[in-house]
Amino acid sequence: MRFVHRIVGLLLLLVVPCIADAQSRSSARAVDWAAMQDEAVDVLRQYLRIDSSNPPGNELATARFLQAFLKKEGIEAVILDTVELGTGRANLYARLKGNGSKRAIALVQHMDVVPVTPAYWTVPAFSGELKDGFVYGRGALDMKGQGVAHLMALVALKRSGVPLTRDIVFVANADEELNSTGGIVFVEKHADLLRDVEYLFTEGGANVYRNGKLEYFSVGVAEKRTMWQRLVVKGTPSHGSRPTRANPVPRLVAALDRIAKYETPLHVTPGVEKFFRDISRNYPAPQRAWLADVKTALTRPSAREWILRDVYWNAILRNTISLTGLAGSNKTNVIPAEASAEIDVRLLPDQDPADMLATLKRIVADTAVHFETLLGPKPPFESPANTDLFRAVERAAREREPGVFVTSSMMTGATDRPSYRKLGIIAYGLDPFRVEAADEQRGVHGNDERLSVENVGFGVRFLYDILRYAQ
Ligand SMILES: [Zn+2]
Repeated sequence: MRFVHRIVGLLLLLVVPCIADAQSRSSARAVDWAAMQDEAVDVLRQYLRIDSSNPPGNELATARFLQAFLKKEGIEAVILDTVELGTGRANLYARLKGNGSKRAIALVQHMDVVPVTPAYWTVPAFSGELKDGFVYGRGALDMKGQGVAHLMALVALKRSGVPLTRDIVFVANADEELNSTGGIVFVEKHADLLRDVEYLFTEGGANVYRNGKLEYFSVGVAEKRTMWQRLVVKGTPSHGSRPTRANPVPRLVAALDRIAKYETPLHVTPGVEKFFRDISRNYPAPQRAWLADVKTALTRPSAREWILRDVYWNAILRNTISLTGLAGSNKTNVIPAEASAEIDVRLLPDQDPADMLATLKRIVADTAVHFETLLGPKPPFESPANTDLFRAVERAAREREPGVFVTSSMMTGATDRPSYRKLGIIAYGLDPFRVEAADEQRGVHGNDERLSVENVGFGVRFLYDILRYAQ
């Protein structure tokens, strides 16, 4: 009896997955991807026409737009946090139910965009204009294009009836571009809505295409921590015709000069070491060997110089300091009462902000220079790369680009990921598009931001497949 049981058990083990697989295939309806691309382009154009420049944000209008679209698809979305975020602002939340046997995946976007300088645009920035195979508009890349990929991948899963073991959670936040209050308030007030979320996708990945050639796909697993400081020196105001020692300007300039000359130490985090090892295969000798063992390479002058010449590589190998803002007198003949400067400090994820501040004070070596924190660092953020979802990205990427590899990257800028990572969610930056590096450079927070029609379709399907493979 026992023996028979075991045989039946074994047979069941063998047969059940096949039945389940056949069922999932038969119950899922095929998606018409050409029609889906057209539809997604149309939705993106409408989304771009809603001016959500931050400030003031106006995310209540974008939230209502997303809510109305989801409602048509039978997905109920709720508008949240309107009181906390202030007039005209909101977060949005929706959920596509699976059978609950595995934990959920969240798709998180921000609905606000950075302001534009219309004079630098060749098309109106909020027209959603379609030109030469591209959709133009502020937010096409950062990040309404990705937001539409989230939206339409979710809708495609619902329409095609793919059996889901994981719920798919859809979140759209306000205010990522300025103070991150949308993400912060959402996490603080609605941790219950995210209780079962294991993974999260948002911006912060980078697939690198240069001159039509793919270098790599990447999932963003870490980011630098922003720590903005203001340096202030007080003095005694007087007439510029009679120089005094109480002029705060030269004192501040001397301090800034010491900071400008300071070279932050190089520091290779394990994630960055892996990134260089991954991408080394794209390079010929001797660079290949240098990147494969970046720690050693950084001890050799020629290799070190070549590596640090790349501004991105330099920024992921050390804490960085950029001197940016500067204010003294607003009149040439007046010695001001105060001189101030702003510096943009970015820390590697494993660095201590207090240590950095102490280092800055030591370098300046002048107690007349006062430091004020303008923006304190978010919690350190690093996510593991050895996960089912990361492997689902690798599978979907390889199907599209044979021979491609997916590396894990660190972002030098900031996203809302640290707020979500605090809840224990494995947060990834995923860029579902194949955008030329030059387009990325020009468009993100720049001018003539655009996304190709082909990329819109590519992004929806890529994300749809990743979400399917992660079930
Ligand atoms: Zn963004």
